[in-house]
Amino acid sequence: MNRVVVVGASAAGLAAVETLRREGFEGDLTLIGDEPYAPYDRPPLSKQILSRTWREDRLPLRSDEDLSALNVELRIGTEAIGVDTRARTVKIASGEALPYDGLIVATGVRPRALPTARGHLLRTLDDALNLRSRLEPGRHLLVVGAGFLGAEAAATARGIGCRVTLVEPAPVPLAHAVGEDVGRMLSTLHSERGVDLRTGTGVAEVIDDGVRLVGGEVIEADEVLVSVGSVPNTDWLEGSGLRLDDGLVCDEYCSAGPGVYAAGDVARWHNPLFGTSMRVEHRTHAAEQGMAAARNLLRGPQGRPFAPVPYFWSDQYDMKLQAYGYLRGHDEVALVEGDLDERRFIVAYRTGDRLTGVIAAGIAPRTLRSWRQAIARSAAWDEDPPTPSEPTRRAA
Ligand SMILES: Cc1cc2nc3c(=O)[nH]c(=O)nc-3n(C[C@H](O)[C@H](O)[C@H](O)COP(=O)(O)OP(=O)(O)OC[C@H]3O[C@@H](n4cnc5c(N)ncnc54)[C@H](O)[C@@H]3O)c2cc1C
Repeated sequence: MNRVVVVGASAAGLAAVETLRREGFEGDLTLIGDEPYAPYDRPPLSKQILSRTWREDRLPLRSDEDLSALNVELRIGTEAIGVDTRARTVKIASGEALPYDGLIVATGVRPRALPTARGHLLRTLDDALNLRSRLEPGRHLLVVGAGFLGAEAAATARGIGCRVTLVEPAPVPLAHAVGEDVGRMLSTLHSERGVDLRTGTGVAEVIDDGVRLVGGEVIEADEVLVSVGSVPNTDWLEGSGLRLDDGLVCDEYCSAGPGVYAAGDVARWHNPLFGTSMRVEHRTHAAEQGMAAARNLLRGPQGRPFAPVPYFWSDQYDMKLQAYGYLRGHDEVALVEGDLDERRFIVAYRTGDRLTGVIAAGIAPRTLRSWRQAIARSAAWDEDPPTPSEPTRRAA
């Protein structure tokens, strides 16, 4: 293999490039990204950047020196517009065709817009700076959608003294993902902090001075943030022969076709640990999958299935939620430690007869790690709760 092209210059793409070099790949390496920035971190956008606790110069994932040490041709501000899997070339917007022996697709997702395409979105640094410049104490932000991202932005805006309305069509925010009890706890948290939470009501459109709800009621607001889910960036792969189905479809090796691998938010792959196809939109997962895809590209038939326990965190006010596993489609949810009202708890998820996930707040990392290990070994649901293992002792 002489030439590898990685499309998408963010968490997954960067991890892929670094892994290729670490594993000894000495050929030509090109990293293409359509944003005007070198790889930067996205999770702080809805937290430290929006709250002005961080300046944006803390976001880059690597220094210029680290990037140049990788000996990678970094082409930022460059959009990939197509791939020819027979000729093995990636076409970019300038019309140039970049040849590859191996291709890693790491193009992430973009926010879903409402039909009128109005209101702020929050995915990129530019989005965050734009929204931030409009948020001052006393201004009214209306957030459409109380998923993790919308809820985090609402919490941050409250923190800087904005009035906040959070509108969510589901009766209980996030109930489909984390269950009713955790969803209700989150609702209470936001209401206690002064967010005007309107559940069971959808937004029909964003208008000049706010939003119009499905029933016709108008809620006025200075700014509207639309946070209603995301769409995988696979349009540029249409017609390539690669399988697209809510993401770029891959096997358990993260392979989408001969010489083509995918990683991060855009990749729908078969996770053998849970026996199902999944697409995961979490920061640490993106990096892990970038590494796995790069290794498997180099190893070919000696590659290893990618079977992680997905992890994510979400910061809302002073609460850090952490989750391991695959919570979607669960059959049962049970509080296994602590108390939701005290915001110190572990909630476990059963799918079939297995423990498939946990979500927690205020719990010692050691305890959480033991739950993670139980999920990784496909523990039966009726097993005793895992006990934290002793810290590894170093030999004297
Ligand atoms: C505001 C915000 C807060 C978040 N908070 C958390 C959190 O608290 N915890 C957590 O676990 N996760 C969080 N996430 C999710 C996390 O940031 C993502 O899972 C992670 O960024 C995914 O990395 P990625 O490399 O797969 O994709 P992305 O980071 O989306 O990067 C893909 C890159 O590819 C570029 N691209 C797309 N199409 C093309 C093309 N055709 N040609 C060239 N380039 C292209 C995109 O512009 C982008 O730069 C958050 C995300 C956001 C937006």
